[in-house]
Amino acid sequence: MSDQAMAKAAALRSLPSVDQLLRTEPALKLRDRIGATRITALARSVTEEIRAQIQAGRVADSISREDLLLQSVRLLEEAGKRESQLGIRRVINATGVILHTNLGRAPLSQAARVAISQEAAGYCTLEYDPLSGLRGRRGARVEMLLSEITGAEDALVVNNCAAAAFLVLSVLAKDRETIVSRGELVEIGGDFRVPDVMANSGTHMVEVGTTNRTRLDDYRRAITERTRVIMRVHQSNYRIIGFTSSPTVTELAALAHESNLLLFEDAGSGVLIDLSRHGLGDEPIVQFSIRDGADIVSFSGDKLLGGIQAGLIVGRRDIVGRLRKHSLYRALRVDKLTLAALAATLESFVRGASLQEVPALRMLAFSKTEITERAQALQESLSTLLQESPLKIGLIEGTSAIGGGSGPNTHPVTTLIALHHETLSVDELQRHLRLSTPPVITRIADRKVLIDLRTVAAEEEADLMAAIANLANLAGTK
Ligand SMILES: *Cc1c(COP(=O)(O)O)cnc(C)c1O
Repeated sequence: MSDQAMAKAAALRSLPSVDQLLRTEPALKLRDRIGATRITALARSVTEEIRAQIQAGRVADSISREDLLLQSVRLLEEAGKRESQLGIRRVINATGVILHTNLGRAPLSQAARVAISQEAAGYCTLEYDPLSGLRGRRGARVEMLLSEITGAEDALVVNNCAAAAFLVLSVLAKDRETIVSRGELVEIGGDFRVPDVMANSGTHMVEVGTTNRTRLDDYRRAITERTRVIMRVHQSNYRIIGFTSSPTVTELAALAHESNLLLFEDAGSGVLIDLSRHGLGDEPIVQFSIRDGADIVSFSGDKLLGGIQAGLIVGRRDIVGRLRKHSLYRALRVDKLTLAALAATLESFVRGASLQEVPALRMLAFSKTEITERAQALQESLSTLLQESPLKIGLIEGTSAIGGGSGPNTHPVTTLIALHHETLSVDELQRHLRLSTPPVITRIADRKVLIDLRTVAAEEEADLMAAIANLANLAGTK
C-alpha cells in the first residue's frame, strides 16, 4: 500500500460511527427537536459524506479522530438547521408585490389572526349555536356578511375561486352548454385555465367573438336549447388595449334572462370597495355585478379582498341553494380557520375600515410620501453602522406591483432602498438576505438589491434592519 492509501485507511478507521455521533451533546439536543428517526438518518448521511470526502482525498490525511468527530458534528448541525428551515416560515416580503402568490398572497389582518388563533383553533362554534344549543350552519356568519356587503341574496364559501367556478359550472351546466367570449379564455397563475376548468366541470364550452371584440349579438347567436349559462370572466392578469369591446353585465344579464339562462361572472379579484383612486378602476366591483343582474358571481378570498384563500360565491338564493345542496360542495367547502379569518376580514369592510385594517389594502393605499419617510428613517438609523462598510445604501424612485393576477397595469409609485456592495455581487447580497432569519425577499434591478417598504409591516422593520446590518458586517470575499 502506498503512503497515501495507508493514510486514507487510517482516516477511515478514525471516522466516528453513527452511534458515536448520535451520543454527542449537539446531536442529543437536535434529537429532541426533530426526533430519533430523523436524527439517525441525518447522522448516517453525514457519516457517509465524510467517508466519501476521505476516499476522494478531500480530507487532510493527518486528521485526528477528534477533528473528524468535530467535523461530523458541524455537518450534522448544518443539516439540522436546513431541516428546521423546511415548511412554512414567516418571511419579510420586501419585493413590493402586494399579493405575492409564492409568499402566501394577502397577509391577514390583525383581527383575522386573532380570530384564527384565539377563537377557531380549539373547539369553536363552527356548526353550533350556543343560543339554542342546537346545530348551526357552517359558514352562516360569513355568508351573512357577504350578502350584506354585496347586496346578494345568498352566499357560499369554497376552497378557492377555481373551486367556485368548477362548482358553479358543474352544478348549473354539466352536459349542457356555456357561452364564453374568446377574449376571456385566460390562464391565471399557470394552473387556472378557463377552458380546462370548463372541460373538467363537464360543461360544453361555446366560444364566441374574437380575442379583442365580442358583441352581444355574438352571444345571442350562440344560444341553443342546450345552453344553460353565459359566463363572463375577468381578464385579471392581462389586458387587451386598443380596438376592443365587450357587452356590459347589464346587457349580458338582459340577454341571459330573456333566454331563460343564467349569467355567471368569475370576477377573480373581486373588489368590494371602489379602488379606482388607487389605480384599480378596472377591477369588477362585486356589488355592481349583482346590482347589474349577474345571477352568480365568484371571486377570491385572498386577492384584493385581502383575506385568506377561499372562493366566494354570491348571488340568487335559489341558485346558491342548489350549489349548497350539491354533493360536490361537501368536497370543496372550507375549514373553521378559513371561516374565522374571512369573517374577521369581512367585518372590516362592514365597518368601512378596510383601507385601514386590511393589510393588502392599506399597502395599496400607502402614499409615496409615507414610504419615503419610512425609507429615510431606516437609512438614517443604519448610517452610523454603514459609515466604514463596503455595503452602500441609497434611495431611488420606483414602482410597486399588485400581483396575484390583479391590476397588471397598476404600478403604485414608491421609494426603494437600493443596496450594493463593493465586493459582493447583487446575487450574493440577495442570497444572504434570503438566508436571514426571517428570510428577507427582495428583487434586483440595475445591479442593485431593491427593498420596497410598501409590503413591509412597521413591526417587521427591526428584523429587516438587523438583516441589512448583518450584510454590512460581511467581509466580502469574492
Ligand atoms: C385568480 C383568479 C381565479 C383563481 O382564483 P384562486 O382563488 O386562486 O383559485 C379564477 N378566476 C379569475 C378570473 C381569477 O382572476
